[in-house]
Amino acid sequence: MNRRKALACFCGLALSPWIARSKTAVSLSAIPLKTHEQVMRVAMKEALRNSMYPFAAVITNAASGKILAKGVNNSAANPTLHGEIACVNHYVEQYGNNNWSNLILYTTGEPCPMCMGALIWAGIGGVVYASSCKAIAKSGIDQIDISAKEVIAASHFWRPELLGGVLEKECDALFMNRKRS
Ligand SMILES: [Zn+2]
Repeated sequence: MNRRKALACFCGLALSPWIARSKTAVSLSAIPLKTHEQVMRVAMKEALRNSMYPFAAVITNAASGKILAKGVNNSAANPTLHGEIACVNHYVEQYGNNNWSNLILYTTGEPCPMCMGALIWAGIGGVVYASSCKAIAKSGIDQIDISAKEVIAASHFWRPELLGGVLEKECDALFMNRKRS
């Protein structure tokens, strides 16, 4: 086994959810899974603010782990206000349009093409999600059938690191048990 292959195997063992490699400064695999889960729990708590569409996001500084911004889906007020966009807006209100490559966005649901596109345009360092688009669709919420991984692969100027499946079961339950009407 050559060195590169050995390293790839090691990375695969470090975290069970899959990771797409990026050219950013953020290394999601260098952060313990427990830390990712702790932040995802904050996003889950935020998601309880929207019982029908429990999509929420949190932005952290990758180096310090400090939570800098939060957002929950408010598409009832504005169709573009998905949890990720609300969170991006909350970040910009406080810190300006700065420092994206050192930030990680955590979200209860896999980013849709609109949100993943916005995060690529921002130049964010990493994106961590819980439930997949497929699981969300099973809960009766409409989804555009393009994965976050596919959107990233189609970008030739910026590729955030991506980690899926963190607290997946808990967030799948959040979507399945959501208020339906
Ligand atoms: Zn979205």
